[in-house]
This record gives sequence, structure tokens and C-alpha cells, in this order.
Amino acid sequence: MSTTERPRILVVGGGYVGLYAARRILKKMRYGEATVTVVDPRSYMTYQPFLPEAAAGSISPRHVVVPLRRVLPKAEVLTGRVTTIDQDRKVATIAPLVGEAYELPFDYLVIAMGAVSRTFPIPGLAEQGIGMKGIEEAIGLRNHVLEQLDKADSTTDEDVRRKALTFVFVGGGFAGAETIGEVEDMARDAAKYYTNVSREDMRFILVDAADKILPEVGPKLGQYGKEHLEGRGVEVYLSTSMDSCVDGHVVLKNGLEVDSSTIVWTAGVKPNPVLSRFGLPLGPRGHVDTRTTLQVQGTDYIWAAGDNAQVPDLVGRKAGNENAWCPPNAQHALRQARVLGDNVISGMRGFPQKEYSHANKGAVAGLGLHKGVAFIVMGKMKIKLKGRLAWYMHRGYHGLAMPTWNRKIRVFADWTLAVFLKREVVSLGAMETPREEFYEAAKPAPAPVAAAKTEEKAKAS
Ligand SMILES: Cc1cc2nc3c(=O)[nH]c(=O)nc-3n(C[C@H](O)[C@H](O)[C@H](O)COP(=O)(O)OP(=O)(O)OC[C@H]3O[C@@H](n4cnc5c(N)ncnc54)[C@H](O)[C@@H]3O)c2cc1C
Repeated sequence: MSTTERPRILVVGGGYVGLYAARRILKKMRYGEATVTVVDPRSYMTYQPFLPEAAAGSISPRHVVVPLRRVLPKAEVLTGRVTTIDQDRKVATIAPLVGEAYELPFDYLVIAMGAVSRTFPIPGLAEQGIGMKGIEEAIGLRNHVLEQLDKADSTTDEDVRRKALTFVFVGGGFAGAETIGEVEDMARDAAKYYTNVSREDMRFILVDAADKILPEVGPKLGQYGKEHLEGRGVEVYLSTSMDSCVDGHVVLKNGLEVDSSTIVWTAGVKPNPVLSRFGLPLGPRGHVDTRTTLQVQGTDYIWAAGDNAQVPDLVGRKAGNENAWCPPNAQHALRQARVLGDNVISGMRGFPQKEYSHANKGAVAGLGLHKGVAFIVMGKMKIKLKGRLAWYMHRGYHGLAMPTWNRKIRVFADWTLAVFLKREVVSLGAMETPREEFYEAAKPAPAPVAAAKTEEKAKAS
């Protein structure tokens, strides 16, 4: 890492907020004004709204991530975790991918560590569940689902087959509803190539503790989304939760019991728990408490935004809701990052801070090829769309929102190719254990059976 005399702006997290804030700072900064250091355990930013499509094979997983070193060539990018912050000494402790942890001094700090899956102590969940927060999980889920079809197609054991073909998704927000919609679509497509598996043999189950799904698009479109999924054979159980899933035996509060090899957990997120070690003021649910300028309460050199921050929603507050906070979504993360970047530059130069204010522009959700819901706010007009048109809105919006032209072009190319070449439905499950086959080939060979027997006979005679 660089040890220049320039002030250091340390950006903790290279996701939505981290990437966009760093880009903004670098764009507005004068040559040599500061060193921008971005620390993230991954060397890439993940465009999370595309994870369901990556899980369904509609977009190549590599095109859903943005390499930090490539898009931030003027920043110092460190691959590791920030584990603690010492505000008195203004140093952060970094645990790199390998080797000893070390301290990194900073002058200005940006906290952008996002959220992690919110889980509960449900027996079996930690061992059986898979989340949907990172590209690794999307790739893993896709391989796993296709592998279940392979297994079911080639077994004679009816119990194994039933368990393999039962897919349980817990959580019906954006992430859950979109993922089950996309994965069901992929499995339906893939089943055409199997002799002994058809869509009717599969069971897709969506569970949510609330009484609706897709709350982000409002009650009417949420209800449409539910009916649409049910029309495709998905069983939707609302106002219920999962009690346990030990060894894949799923027990729901409503009494339903099924065996399943696939339990996808998308029941919400919570702020990154590491925040509790940073000594920053936290809100009741663990978010960093910020002012409307995105400065952390009680500081003038630390900013926070995105899923790990509780940012006052000025639009909601002006409309009379004194306790309005910005919801954790990409729409806010992106816009907060820009204001945050400007405010860091202003803070460094001693200029006043801007307030963050953004009126909700709506939400779009894809539920599989040519299916979706969209809720668009244009001034006083609220437009609700469903079906193919909503799906085009979803693809158009996210395709253009994808960071960098390089990634946008790759994503649109994937979609275009899929029109002509059809979706790829091969499982590469062995990717998770790539050394296994080589190990088998390279390990010392046992003595050949025939030779060993001859030797034994010779000894005996
Ligand atoms: C499946 C899914 C679908 C979604 N769909 C939509 C949608 O359609 N529309 C929408 O508006 N929003 C959607 N969202 C939400 C949206 O993606 C998030 O609100 C947005 O990514 C938040 O940005 P962020 O920068 O706060 O966090 P993130 O983008 O998650 O970035 C946090 C970064 O911090 C890093 N980090 C974690 N711990 C440390 C540490 N100790 N040290 C350093 N770095 C660390 C992480 O590796 C990560 O790169 C979706 C989310 C998911 C999971």
C-alpha cells in the first residue's frame, strides 16, 4: 500500500456505494489531492439485482461483477477485510487474504460494507441453507439445481428422487420472488432434455412470514406476482415460517413437512455485524446512524451510506412521516454514493455539506423469461405494469444501470445470444471440487489386484 504524505480517504467496502463513491471522488479530486484506498474481501463489485438471472443462466456470472482494479485504476485497491477502526488514532485494521493483519492510517473514512443475510437459529439452516447475496451463491445454486435434475433422472430410489426435485425458498421479497421465478423457469426449460424428469415431477415452494410477497412493488402487483407464480405451479405459503430443516427435512409452522435437497434463504438482510466493532453510533437495528449529509452522527470525517446505514428519508419526512428512513436498495445506494463522494471532497476542502434527498422512482422485478412486475413513479403518476412489458422494463432498467459500458454490453450480448442459442442448462457442479479428479489420478496407485494375488500364492507355496 502507498505511504505518501497525501491525506488518505479510506473506503471500506467496494460494493455499490464503495465503487460509485470512489469513482465520484476520483473524478472530482485534483491531481495528488488525496490517496483513495478501497478495501473489500472480494476484488470485484457485485451487481446484486442480476443474481437471480445469473442463477438461472440468463447472464454469464462473470458479467454480473465489475473488477475493482480495472474500473478504479487511480485508486489503491486492497483485497481484505477491515476488522476494526480506531477513531482516536485514525487507523483501520486490515486482515488481508493471506498473512498478518496490519494497520492502515486514514484521514477520511467511508463506511460502505452493505448487509448480510438475516438468519434465525432454525435447526438445520446453517448446514442446509444457501443465501443469495453473492455471485458464488448464484453459481452454486444453479449448479446444484441442475445437479438435482441429473440425480433424479438417474436414480431408481423414489425417496431420493422426490427430495432432489423439491425446492424450498424462504423469503418472498425481491431476492426470493425473483430467484424462485428465474430458477423455476430454468428448471422447466432444462426438464425438456431429461427422459425421466418433467416439470410436473418438481415441487417449488415459496414461504414467507408476511401475508404478501414482493412488498417493494405494492400490494396489487405483489398479489399479481403471487398468482402468477401459483399459475406456474409454485406453492406459495404466506403468514408462515420454517421451524426446522435438519438433514433437509423441512417443517413449516403451518404443518407442512417435505424433504428437500435445496433450501434457499432470502428472508431479508441485516447490516454487516462487523460494524459493532467500529465504535460508531448505531441505530436500533445495527445500522450506522447518519445525518442527512451522510456524515456519521457526531463526526465530520466519517460518512456512511447504503445497506449498512440508516439515512433519514427527507422526502418521507417532508410528507409528514418523522421516522422515515431510506429503504436498503440499489436505487438509494447509487444516489447516496454520488452525494457522499461530493461531500467527502467538500469536507476535505472545508466547504459545506449537501443533504441527501431522493423521491422513490418505483421498482421492477423479473420473474423469469418474459415475466415480471413494474411499479414506476413519474411525478404524480404511478404506473403499474405486469407481464412481458414489465419484464422489458426490468431488463432495460437494470441493463442500463449496470456499471461500466463494458459490463452493459456483455449483459445485453448474453440476452441477445440467448434468443438464438437458447439457455445453457449444463451443471458444472464439479467446479466446487476442481482438484478431485486430478487427486485421484495423482495419488499413489494401489498394487494391481492380479499381481498381488500371484505374489500371495507364490509366498504360500
Ligand atoms: C438478490 C438481490 C436482488 C436485489 N434486487 C434489487 C433490485 O431489483 N432493485 C434494487 O434497488 N435493489 C436490489 N437489491 C438490493 C441492492 O443490491 C443493495 O441495496 C445494494 O447492493 C446495497 O449497496 P451497498 O454498497 O450498501 O452494499 P453491497 O453492494 O452489498 O456492498 C458491500 C460491500 O462491502 C464488502 N464488505 C463486507 N464486509 C467487509 C469488510 N469487513 N471490510 C471491507 N469490505 C467489506 C462486501 O464484500 C461488498 O462488496 C437486491 C439485492 C439482492 C441480494
